[in-house]
Amino acid sequence: MNFSSKLLEDAVNEFSKLPGVGQKTALRLVLHLLNKEQEEVELFGNALIRLRKEIKHCQVCHNISDNQLCNICAAAKREKEVICVVEDTRDVMAIENTGQYFGLYHVLGGLISPMDGIGPSDLFIDSLVQRVATTPVKEVILALSATMEGDTTLFYLYKRLKDFHVPITTIARGIAFGGELEYADEITLGRSIVTRVPYQTSLIK
Ligand SMILES: [Zn+2]
Repeated sequence: MNFSSKLLEDAVNEFSKLPGVGQKTALRLVLHLLNKEQEEVELFGNALIRLRKEIKHCQVCHNISDNQLCNICAAAKREKEVICVVEDTRDVMAIENTGQYFGLYHVLGGLISPMDGIGPSDLFIDSLVQRVATTPVKEVILALSATMEGDTTLFYLYKRLKDFHVPITTIARGIAFGGELEYADEITLGRSIVTRVPYQTSLIK
C-alpha cells in the first residue's frame, strides 16, 4: 500500500497487527476514526492505554479485574466452595452469560501444550492446588476444551488434585471452549454446566 502520509501509514500498521484485521480493514477503521471528533478519538485511545496500564488480575482466581479481588470472588452470594477451572477470561464471560453457574472460578491462563513449550509451571496450577489445599472446597469443575491440550491439562489437574478427596467433575465434552468459546451457544453451555459429570466416569466413555 502506498500511503500519502507517514502518520496514516503508522496508524494502519498498528491496526493491522490485530488478529483478523488485514491492511484494507485497518485502513477503513483508521479513516473512520479520522472522521470522528478529536475528543471521541481521545476517548478511544485513552481506553486502550488505561486498560493496559491499570488492569489487574484477581489474586485468588487470576481473572482480569479492576481490583486485587475480582467482582466474582468479592461477591457475597456466590457459592465459594465450588471452583470452576477454565483456560482464560473468555470462558468466565461465556459461563457467566449462561446465568446457570454460581460458584467461583480459577483461570489457568492457558493449557498445557508441549508443542508450544507451555508446561504446568507456566500456568496458574500451583495456586489452584493451594486453593484446594487451604480453603473449604466441595467441588472442582474442570471446564476445558475437548482438544489434545485440554485433555492433557485435565489429566494433569486430576493427578494433582485427586489426593485431596474433593469431587472433580467435567462439563460435557465437545463444547467449544477456549478460542472457539465465543461461538458456543449459551443454552448448550449452560446445560453442560448444570449436568456436569464426575471426571472418572468421563474417562471411561
Ligand atoms: Zn477472582
